[in-house]
Order: sequence, then structure tokens, then C-alpha cells
Amino acid sequence: MTSITKCIERVRKRIADAARRAGREVDEIQLIAVSKTRNLDDIRFAVASDIMDFGENYLQEARGKISEIGLDGLKWHFIGTLQKNKTQQVANLFDWVHSVDRIEIAKRLSMHRDMQLPPLNICLQINIDNESTKSGFKIEQLSKTVEQVIELPQLVLRGLMAIPASKTAEVDQRRAFAKLRHTQAAINNGLDSSDKLDTLSMGMSQDLEAAILEGATIVRVGSDIFGPRLKDATN
Ligand SMILES: *Cc1c(COP(=O)(O)O)cnc(C)c1O
Repeated sequence: MTSITKCIERVRKRIADAARRAGREVDEIQLIAVSKTRNLDDIRFAVASDIMDFGENYLQEARGKISEIGLDGLKWHFIGTLQKNKTQQVANLFDWVHSVDRIEIAKRLSMHRDMQLPPLNICLQINIDNESTKSGFKIEQLSKTVEQVIELPQLVLRGLMAIPASKTAEVDQRRAFAKLRHTQAAINNGLDSSDKLDTLSMGMSQDLEAAILEGATIVRVGSDIFGPRLKDATN
């Protein structure tokens, strides 16, 4: 067994344990393997362990991998900072974009998404701790943004994504995730049932338990699957 296989088993067990603590079903939580900086062999090992969802931060790197490995049954999630001039390619290569941080990006993704493809799934990235080093919407801007994004024809607004400031203790980690959960609930209060957000994309290697306890439906895990990254790139 490769170490990637073992690491995936370990991460799945952590997810199952956290789900049990939270009184949730384990299949409510989807694992995305964050494969930025990893090579094709690493991705193939993960596929052999039934990982079907991969997260990538850089268009150029992802484009090479997607064309080599193909789209066959796999889903690709764009989770990195997105520049305007990359929206056309990202809109058509990926199944999800978790990191929409400006209305302009949402409009361009919708405009460029091929009409032959199903609408692109997106999350709005929230700067949950108001950090100057991180991008994302402020909570106060959200209700207006949500109204605008829901109108865009080639997108489906699935939910919210955040990368909280790093904390060690679980109680502290949970605070930011709880805030995201409350924000989603407040938004859903004002939406028709067909528009309600069903996704909270939160939790990484260091804090996936806290995220699951606060309602994460997607966790994005890199280092605890593939090992430490050499070239660091948390975003
Ligand atoms: C790199 C990255 C991850 C994975 O982080 P790990 O700590 O390696 O699990 C998750 N989400 C985003 C947005 C990232 O950039």
C-alpha cells in the first residue's frame, strides 16, 4: 500500500469520527483532495483510492494535469485566487469554482461558460476573519452579491467558502466556521427553496474536524493526503 493510500484512509477515518461526534451522516461530507504542486502519479494513487474530486489553485498547472488524466469521471475544483484574464479557461475546464471573491469574476465565469456544459457550480469566498492578506467578500456585502449571482444564467450558486485564520485549539477553530454556518442560514432565510445554498466548503488538513462539527459539506485536504508541500502555496 502506498503512503497516499494510507493517508487517505486516515483522513476518511477522521471525517467519519468527526461526523459521528457531530451526529451527522458521513456521506453528507465530501472530501476534495487538494493536488496543487503534486504530480500525476500522486493523483493516480488517489484515484486508485476512489478519490474523484481534486482541488487545484493554478490554472496553468491544472490544465496540464486535466489534459493528461482526462475528465473521465473526475471532478475538478478551482480553489485558488482567480484573475480576470483566466476566467474564460477556468469556466470551461472546471466543474466547480470555490474562490469567487468579486462580482465581476462571477459575471465573467457565467458569460464564458459554454452553453453546451451544465452550469458551473460556484461558492462565494468569504473573508471570515477580515484579514488584509486574504481575499473574499465581507459578510455585510453578501446579501446584495447573492441576489446578483443568482441571476447569472450559467452559474449555480452552491454556497460559501472560507479559509479562516490559522488556530490550534479546536474551540477557536470552530468559532470562524460557526460564523460561516450562521451566515449561510441567514442568507437561506431570504431565498426561495430552489435557490437555497446547500454547500459549506470549509476545513483543511489542520481543522477539518472543527469544520465538520460546524456543518462543513466539503472539506479540502492537501498535506494530510499527499504529504507536506515543498513549494508552499496555501493561496
Ligand atoms: C492549499 C489549500 C488547501 C489544502 O490545504 P492543506 O493544509 O494542505 O490541507 C485547501 N484549500 C485551499 C483554498 C488551499 O489553497
